[in-house]
Amino acid sequence: MSFVVTPAPQISVPVLGTEARFPVHRIYCVGRNYEEHAKEMGFTGREPPFFFLKPTDAVVVVNPGQTASLPYPTLTANLHHEIELVVAIGTGGKNIKAADAHSHIFGYAVGLDMTRRDLQNEMKKQGRPWCIGKAFDHSAPIGPITPAAQAGDVTAAEIALQVNGQDRQRSQVSKLIWNIAETIEHLSAAWELQPGDLIYTGTPEGVAAVVAGDTLHGTVSGLTPITLQVR
Ligand code: MN
Repeated sequence: MSFVVTPAPQISVPVLGTEARFPVHRIYCVGRNYEEHAKEMGFTGREPPFFFLKPTDAVVVVNPGQTASLPYPTLTANLHHEIELVVAIGTGGKNIKAADAHSHIFGYAVGLDMTRRDLQNEMKKQGRPWCIGKAFDHSAPIGPITPAAQAGDVTAAEIALQVNGQDRQRSQVSKLIWNIAETIEHLSAAWELQPGDLIYTGTPEGVAAVVAGDTLHGTVSGLTPITLQVR
């Protein structure tokens, strides 16, 4: 087969313990999935989960022990960090029940849902799609994927983000409003999940702005941490 332009390369993420990589299919994100974050965004209570997507090539791979470069995006003066647990889907399916969800999970990683908050807020106000606030280039940093069997109990993990060595976000994955299994049930009712899908599960409270020169260090206990510098 030939192509009229050069095909895009397959985006992939390293996997701990193997040279084989995880090929990224789609990037799903869950909105407002920790109560204290929902509150800081001006909402209360448990609403049904809702989703948005990022383009696959928004991935910024952060290798273990490396400080990755995070380009400051255009059009914003309010670039926010959102530390998130990322679920990597190994087996696809639709209408997956929460009780079966874990058999569809390949592994877990630490990720950042970088957000042009000023643009997102403007789109919200106008009732327009969030794409320009959420789905920009380099908006989906992610560390290596730990296979589920080696990750321990991520549902009991601590999740945190430091900027220049100072705590900005610190919470527990157990505080997810919609837990991992419930999220997969809801998501797979709306889209047929495919091997290679990533799910950014939502961020706890403490989201705030970063500027050029800042160093971000994200952790989920039991997984490989990520470090990036905004440039
Ligand atoms: Mn998020």
